Amino acid sequence: MTTVGILGGGQLARMLALSGAPLGLRFLVMDTVADACAGQFAPLLVGDYRDEQALAEFASRVDVVTFDFENVPSESAEWLAERVPVFPNPHALAVAQDRWVEKNLFRELEIPVGDFAAVATRDELEAEVARIGGACILKTRRLGYDGKGQFRIKSAAEIDAAWAALGTQAESVGLIVEAFVPFQRELSVVAVRARDGEFRAWPMTENWHVDGVLSASLASASLAPELAEAAQAHARRLAAALDYVGVFALELFLCDGQWLANEMAPRVHNSGHWTLEGAETSQFENHLRAVLGLPLGSTRAIGQSCMLNWIGELPDRDAVLALPGGHWHDYGKSPRAGRKVGHATLRAGTAGELAVALEDLGAAINRAAQVAPAVTALHSS
Ligand code: AMP
Repeated sequence: MTTVGILGGGQLARMLALSGAPLGLRFLVMDTVADACAGQFAPLLVGDYRDEQALAEFASRVDVVTFDFENVPSESAEWLAERVPVFPNPHALAVAQDRWVEKNLFRELEIPVGDFAAVATRDELEAEVARIGGACILKTRRLGYDGKGQFRIKSAAEIDAAWAALGTQAESVGLIVEAFVPFQRELSVVAVRARDGEFRAWPMTENWHVDGVLSASLASASLAPELAEAAQAHARRLAAALDYVGVFALELFLCDGQWLANEMAPRVHNSGHWTLEGAETSQFENHLRAVLGLPLGSTRAIGQSCMLNWIGELPDRDAVLALPGGHWHDYGKSPRAGRKVGHATLRAGTAGELAVALEDLGAAINRAAQVAPAVTALHSS
């Protein structure tokens, strides 16, 4: 019996465990809190990721380690890797944890990125904003997620406010200032790389964010084939350079017909949740296959899918279940403002059918604004 250890016990670990059950896998999840939602389906070890005793117990009970949470200290991942196989490898995790290191790697690999610079002081920020010219975003280099730890600087007059918001974190997690990219579309490559280097990508996913948090994803995104191929080639080079094993997402802006990379997520990704029902093999199953050295499954899409994130609270479940292609995912979390508590995926045979189903659902559950961008994209595809 193989036991997969997962660091982090949120909804990603929960969906990994649910997807691994048919493969005959056992799981052990480690999290810092006792009510982590993956604990409803897998044994949960509560401990601090820096606690060697807890890590030693975790390592002794699993055959392989992977992540639900990318901000596990990379030293802890390295410590574990000396005792048990860890995928993705700790170096890949460390690169993806630091926006500045990650963007430098993108440049090295000729994956285009917007202008950026590391800044340690207010004066450096002022100088870099002047050099970049135009609007910028100040972000923490590490430990930021879902738009947290970010401040938009529309003009030099806002430098003081930006520094007041994030300057105190310059030493602890580092800061990066980026040119604000006036993108037309945001898309992601969700892909998997096996232990032997085999690479497969799911069809491109288009994403819409609200306040920096993913709101809706549509797949397969309508895109010129050469653009999709270029994006997937970037993802393939990145994964090869990191000797990456498992599923990851490369988030991209499409700006005036050019790709600009935003960031990489070294784990299964919210923009790949649609693959549970909308692809031959889901991102969760393929991640497990990859880390265990099993053959990868097909990433072919089945019909058209749209994933809607439920943030803060769940809408009416039965309205989703009543739709022929409606699928419901409740993460078993207590509702809280800003918290991802579940998602739904609607699947249909054609873009036109999916647009109709989405519009009906948006009206039925009072989420017309959430479904609108995907409906517009489907009508113009
Ligand atoms: P991130 O945490 O970097 O993924 O940022 C969250 C969201 O903020 C992104 O998905 C974009 O919608 C937006 N965003 C982040 N960085 C930039 C940028 N440099 N230019 C424009 N929008 C951005």
